[in-house]
Amino acid sequence: MFATFLLLLWSHAPAPALSLPPRPPVRCSDGGTTGCVLSNAYGAWSSDRADCPVSSVAYPASEQEVVAAVARASASGARVKVVSGFAHTIPKLACPGGGNGTTTTLLISTARLAGVEVDVAARTVTADAGAPLRAVIDAAEASGLSLTAAPYWEGVSVAGLVSTGSHGSSWWGRGGAVHDHVVGLRLVVTAGEADGWARVLTLRRGDELFPAALVSLGLLGVVSKITLSLEPRFKRSITFDYRNDSTFQDDFAAHAASHEFADITWYPSQHTAVYRIDDRAPANAPGDGVNDFIGFQATPIAVTAGLRVVETSLERSKNMKGKCAMAAAEGVAKRLVGNGLKNNGLLFTGYPVVGYQGKMQTSGSCARSSAADLLSACGWDPRFHGLFFYESTAIFSPARFRDFILDVKRLRDLAGSDSLCGVDVYNGLLVRFVKASAAHLGQPEDSVVVDFNYYRASDSAAPRLSQDVWEEVEQLAFVKHGARPHWAKNRLVAFAGVRGKYPRWGQFAAAKRQLDPRGLFDSPWSDEVVGGVELAKGDGCALDGRCVCSEDRHCSPEQGYYCRPGLVFTDARVCRYSGSQNQ
Ligand SMILES: Cc1cc2nc3c(=O)[nH]c(=O)nc-3n(C[C@H](O)[C@H](O)[C@H](O)COP(=O)(O)OP(=O)(O)OC[C@H]3O[C@@H](n4cnc5c(N)ncnc54)[C@H](O)[C@@H]3O)c2cc1C
Repeated sequence: MFATFLLLLWSHAPAPALSLPPRPPVRCSDGGTTGCVLSNAYGAWSSDRADCPVSSVAYPASEQEVVAAVARASASGARVKVVSGFAHTIPKLACPGGGNGTTTTLLISTARLAGVEVDVAARTVTADAGAPLRAVIDAAEASGLSLTAAPYWEGVSVAGLVSTGSHGSSWWGRGGAVHDHVVGLRLVVTAGEADGWARVLTLRRGDELFPAALVSLGLLGVVSKITLSLEPRFKRSITFDYRNDSTFQDDFAAHAASHEFADITWYPSQHTAVYRIDDRAPANAPGDGVNDFIGFQATPIAVTAGLRVVETSLERSKNMKGKCAMAAAEGVAKRLVGNGLKNNGLLFTGYPVVGYQGKMQTSGSCARSSAADLLSACGWDPRFHGLFFYESTAIFSPARFRDFILDVKRLRDLAGSDSLCGVDVYNGLLVRFVKASAAHLGQPEDSVVVDFNYYRASDSAAPRLSQDVWEEVEQLAFVKHGARPHWAKNRLVAFAGVRGKYPRWGQFAAAKRQLDPRGLFDSPWSDEVVGGVELAKGDGCALDGRCVCSEDRHCSPEQGYYCRPGLVFTDARVCRYSGSQNQ
């Protein structure tokens, strides 16, 4: 009940006015630009957990300086990558390295490349690559315009989010993925000596290379500027409708068709699906609401550290009931506060909550924290040993999504509802919608995106409670039902066979050969993701999602976890706790 206490304390505490902002992802021993390491926002990547060492870092403040940095790498043959000032991506895509191993590496940070310009007449915004999403949204709204699509989390850069295919939720208009609202961009690529070792490409919708450059994972060059289309400023009205989960595999498409910004959060252990009824409201509709999603608010460090201690002890003692109590308490707290929706900007007083698009689509007040208060931070800030979790995101063809849900329900019947409580501690399964995209590495069809987060052990060799169930869900999604992995999330195992899942992979690869013929923007870590090939299997490799087990040693026989077939998907291989090898 300690967890319940902490949760209620958290949900009823007034939002701290000041709290610690996330730390910069690049840290250098000399305080300068050499001897540096890059880490992501969670302090651990999905491929391996080690920080990424880089020989030197460039902080261009203009496109000209980006060109100079790319030219420097190009002239010397250095391996190079680009990262934003946020580094919120979980796979180690932004870590430079490889080649012959003797070359130096260069990391280009866009942290100081952050200008934003709105063209009211053209209804567009042009942002420098590193501009924070929040700055882009606020500039548009201040000019009487709105950005239609954006991820739910605002602590990202405009080029970083576009480059990984990040999205909100909509099957209407151009849809929920931000890259489908890009009308043009500028890309700095390597060149030969005669061209000064680097050049700038201006790409617009209709240009041959545009679909490759939209979602490029930083593999083609450095995006310096992005232009997005805007709409006249508008309001939205949001209601969360709690329902039994018995029919949602059959009515999700109708829900997405009926509501422009629909989503569904499924809490499988609680047999509950929360439908987000989310539509445009008339400009004169009363309300100046804010979506300040509770999971993205600054949280007292003592609370998140306490929650982590509780969760780890429940994991170690295999206390499923305790996890379920934790999930239930969180559910009650979230429902009480409308998940962080605030009718008047301060408090949740009831549905619907009406507010301007700029305050309703995207939230993340913990990312806007000031450094003055040392007591609160984003819940996952690695400096404070708070929440630490896997984020899996599977993108389905709608027909396969229905079968996936039915399979997970069968798994729930066989393994027991309690075995699914772990995901309900972390917001359940969030179901969102994106449309077919022009981007080669975007979605080839209107798709259903499912995010699910769950406990990640601090020790990569430690098995987790219901490890087998979440491995089976993962393999149901990515293997049986052919889901495509979100490029910015997931454990490495989700990327197996990824090239075959993107029908225009060949066209992207051709653009890559044309724009980066020497492979300077490659690295062993980005190869692990886009290569989609199975890696060598070491002892315990299945525990942290680096492999699917095929032998017991890939699990942890010494701790009673053996490689076993799935319960519903019998081709799946999962690490199951059995107590003894023969069970
Ligand atoms: C708490 C949280 C919530 C999230 N919510 C959502 C969500 O609602 N929807 C969603 O779809 N995703 C979501 N994400 C994922 C997030 O949107 C992506 O990880 C996004 O790419 C992060 O942007 P960034 O600026 O941190 O990019 P980085 O992590 O710095 O970079 C991401 C990739 O883009 C490349 N890149 C960065 N800048 C450039 C550039 N200028 N030119 C070329 N390539 C570049 C990098 O090399 C790297 O491959 C969430 C992540 C977190 C941690």
